[in-house]
Amino acid sequence: MGGSEPGGEALPFAPPIWATSTYRYADTAALERGLRGELPFYARWENPTVREVERRLAGLYGAEEALLFGSGMAAVSAALMTGLAGGKRLLCQAEVYGGTRGLVEEVLRPWGAEVTWVPIDRWGEVLAAEAVALARGEVGPGGLRPPVGVVWVETPVNPTLQLVDLEAVGAGARRLGALLVVDDTFAPPVLQRSLALGADVAVASATKYLGGHHDLLGGLVAGGRAFLARVAAHRKYTGGVLDPFQAFLLGRGLHTLELRVARQAESALALARWLAGHPRVAAVAYPGLEDHPDRALARRQLPRGAGGMLSFEVRGGREAAVAVVDRLRVIALAASLGGVESSACMPVNTSHAALAPAERAALGIADGLVRLSVGVEPEDALRADLAQALG
Ligand SMILES: *Cc1c(COP(=O)(O)O)cnc(C)c1O
Repeated sequence: MGGSEPGGEALPFAPPIWATSTYRYADTAALERGLRGELPFYARWENPTVREVERRLAGLYGAEEALLFGSGMAAVSAALMTGLAGGKRLLCQAEVYGGTRGLVEEVLRPWGAEVTWVPIDRWGEVLAAEAVALARGEVGPGGLRPPVGVVWVETPVNPTLQLVDLEAVGAGARRLGALLVVDDTFAPPVLQRSLALGADVAVASATKYLGGHHDLLGGLVAGGRAFLARVAAHRKYTGGVLDPFQAFLLGRGLHTLELRVARQAESALALARWLAGHPRVAAVAYPGLEDHPDRALARRQLPRGAGGMLSFEVRGGREAAVAVVDRLRVIALAASLGGVESSACMPVNTSHAALAPAERAALGIADGLVRLSVGVEPEDALRADLAQALG
């Protein structure tokens, strides 16, 4: 049946999945146009299904350019390696995703990267001290330390839901001639406009909210054209591309991003308030609560809701919290987050299991802490599940 070929009168409503590694050309002139980037050439360079989703994501992020990767970590490493090229130094928030910490300590440092870990509440003083060192000539050519290439933050942060002021840290990074890169996996752009707020580059695990259905692995880097052109070269030669089937799923998930996240944020706020009044709960962390230490910043940075992630500390420590998560029935016991189905886990035996107890304590992570990723189920069903699990 004719008509549905490109340019035809009956086009497919959903985008086709271009499951092809390469292309057949009409003639050598066309092949050479492919080689110059004027026509598709090879799926490691570019794929039309992936490209279409990248265009939509660039729009969502308000970015000149967005590029997709085979996982969040592939995106994190591409952004870091691009920003640190030439032996520049990394100022990295101490409270970051465990995979990011592992990449920095086990891959980038052995490659020669210089790294300074910055506790989340010390950005102001560290950036000010770096500016003084730069002015004194202690940093840069002939100085004691290499110049800073990347200031890396994560906000909201896992699992304590503390926030970083992107406007203030962005200004501090610019004074150093460095890029502010934010991992905003916990607050997709329908909640937090990272680039408009002060970040130069946004990185996210598309596995979480952007995909939203626990069925794909992907990552994103979004930002200005010049930096992203270098990230594109990194992806082309290291090969961490997203495959077109995953891109199709991601593109489908994006249609409901705003609806999903609005519902998740609404339910999370209601559940956070309810948990805060529960006798078996010692503390609740959620940036939408009035008593959250970063509440004023949350109003500015997360004006449309504080997201679907919250943490609560069960009274009685680790064993009491294990008993609670093991009793959950509607909410799944699972390490990931950001899906339509609610999930919960304990940082002490998942994301932060590798840390010593004192290190966890320094990060504010109690043994009885439970992290909850609120899905789109009816809020009363989630509340009932938490109520029976807490007993
Ligand atoms: C999951 C996650 C990542 C890594 O993403 P993958 O898709 O698992 O590779 C990076 N940063 C944060 C904040 C995450 O939650």
